[in-house]
Amino acid sequence: MKPRADSRRIAGRILPWALGGIALIVGVTALILATSDGARKAATAQVVDRMADAAEGFMTQATPVDAHALAPNIYQARGVANTHLIDTGDSVVIFDTGLAIQATRQKRALEELVGRKPVSHVILSHSHQDHVGGTQFWAEPETTIIAHREFSEEQRYLKALEPYFHDRNRRLFPWIPEDPIVRGPLSFGHVVPTETIRNGMPHRFTQGGFRFEVLPTPGAEGLDNLSLWLPDQRILFVGDTLGPIFPQFPNIFTMRGEKMRKPMEYIESLDQLIALDAELLVPGHLAPTRGAREIREGLTRIRDAVQYVHDETVKGMNAGKTVWELMEEIQLPSELALSQVHGRVSWGVRSIWEYYATWFHYDSTTELYPVPVREVYADLAGLAGVQALADRGRLALERGELVKALHFCEIALAAEPQAREALEVQRDALKRLLERAQAGFETTYEIVWLTSEIEMTESALAVR
Ligand SMILES: [Zn+2]
Repeated sequence: MKPRADSRRIAGRILPWALGGIALIVGVTALILATSDGARKAATAQVVDRMADAAEGFMTQATPVDAHALAPNIYQARGVANTHLIDTGDSVVIFDTGLAIQATRQKRALEELVGRKPVSHVILSHSHQDHVGGTQFWAEPETTIIAHREFSEEQRYLKALEPYFHDRNRRLFPWIPEDPIVRGPLSFGHVVPTETIRNGMPHRFTQGGFRFEVLPTPGAEGLDNLSLWLPDQRILFVGDTLGPIFPQFPNIFTMRGEKMRKPMEYIESLDQLIALDAELLVPGHLAPTRGAREIREGLTRIRDAVQYVHDETVKGMNAGKTVWELMEEIQLPSELALSQVHGRVSWGVRSIWEYYATWFHYDSTTELYPVPVREVYADLAGLAGVQALADRGRLALERGELVKALHFCEIALAAEPQAREALEVQRDALKRLLERAQAGFETTYEIVWLTSEIEMTESALAVR
């Protein structure tokens, strides 16, 4: 099934922004001066507003903040990531708190609709910064903050590797600040849940007559995913469990980095969601989907597609096929076709492989030692000749063997980084890969990566 063109376009626009936004926040932090708690909150809110003004260009282009009702007493504030409010009468329950620099605006927009009320619960779908950034603005001393049991560990490792992930994000989104600022109230890593939920053990509570079920749904976007089910309204809030558009092939692996995700755990989460028979599906980004049939069919297709890719990978591994063969061979059958905007099936194949078998592929003894094949590239180029390698690259390019063309160029450029012809072949091969990506799955990460590589090659060519 082809995804709707508009969702793909929106997803293409929002995804890079959302990811870059994560890093942008970090830059805000330097401006905050912490004093007493109340003064700190007020000062923080002011700075956040100023930053939001400064970022208005991006905001309006991507997703401006506004709020609307999804159902009686149930509201959504839109933004890069959505914040949800359930008005239970004397108090409110919040599901996800958005990107920090949009959070005060989201809060104000929701309060314009329901007034200002005590917050009984904040429920966090997972530890990513675009979903927890406003927690400090909503949480009061009496508020119960509910998260998955794995939340703190996920938050810990993301914080521990913040400089590493920041640099990786910056390769994809060069406009984000050069260095992450790692301290201050708006920096990442300060959320402390007061109640945690374990896998297999949903948490049910009632507030103001509303029944809430917090469901552990790990898998697609980390080990700490939670969903919120309102059984009386048949509304399901899924955070990023299903990714930004529905339905799509999930990001069981992410190019930004982060830990491997468990495919079978994800399948169990999907089974759990299918069984609910929701009538309104509310994701953490972009628009909800209405209609029990459409939701059930979409969820079932995602579940079956992940199961298919998983089973085919396992079958191929047992048949002695290489990961490269399987990445090439395994495609979704037409009845399971899904958008691959957020992650490619071939990357899923590789991550399932490495999830089960780790990084040692039995390809070569050299895999065991810290001497990559690149270390002999310069010598190889000396033997073959930089020009001859560029010519072979051009030939591969003409045959449509674009990745082989890149290999030849990389060997040539290891010996002579400014070799004009090799740079030109590299640029042309990258451009053809980009065209293929745009005409094919339109995978956002692949497109931003190739675009950044083309820019780098073009700037190398511009140096005389
Ligand atoms: Zn998100």
